[in-house]
Amino acid sequence: NFRLATSFDNQAQSAFLRPNPRLEQCLANSTAKGLPPISVLPMAGQHLSILAQIIGAKSVLEIGTLGGYSSIWFAEAGAKVTSIEIDPKHRDVALENVKGLDAEVILGAALDVLPKLAEEGKQFDMVFIDAAFEDQWEHFDWAVKLTRPNGCIFLDDVIPTMIKDGQTKEGGETILTKIGRDPRVQATLMPTVSCHPMVPTPVFTGFVLAVVKVH
Ligand code: SAM
Repeated sequence: NFRLATSFDNQAQSAFLRPNPRLEQCLANSTAKGLPPISVLPMAGQHLSILAQIIGAKSVLEIGTLGGYSSIWFAEAGAKVTSIEIDPKHRDVALENVKGLDAEVILGAALDVLPKLAEEGKQFDMVFIDAAFEDQWEHFDWAVKLTRPNGCIFLDDVIPTMIKDGQTKEGGETILTKIGRDPRVQATLMPTVSCHPMVPTPVFTGFVLAVVKVH
């Protein structure tokens, strides 16, 4: 099954991905500057871009910039990107990589920056959460407040946060039960399997996609 998954993943990657010098340069510059190789995979970036285009996103809020790889996908999909990054080195590299695009990077911890954006009355068409597993619920809660009605929230890497010591956490509270009880959103879990160049076996993860109904 692993071999099958790898084969389809490779086939889709070579069939669907088009050369993009800016994205390639972003990864090369990020590696050269010593950033960890933890940006979304190219196919996941393309997925985010397609989603942004489907909902006609003109504004995207991103939590976790790293070197700006996913920011570039959103900006090239036609959205103005506001991205939050806690690490000044990552922010600096991201600024180099997104130069000339409609993207700003706010330096700070998301839980400090998000309330300020809400206070300013900011509303986004889409929020992409890709940082700090331990704060996922708080990030999601702020994201709901910052998303316009019928906009969407993409919460990445939910499955790894629900697995402890190789076991799923049975019963009790998880990010899924919290989101499920939230009347402001309608949500789905999309489990994913992908092949990461740095990892020998396919990686099982998954994301929650939610549409915001009311605030
Ligand atoms: N979205 C990026 C991409 O696909 O190119 C990858 C983001 S990487 C997985 C996570 C980033 O979030 C790291 O650069 C990390 O420094 C940043 N980060 C971690 N905790 C944070 C926090 N509390 N607030 C803002 N950024 C944070």
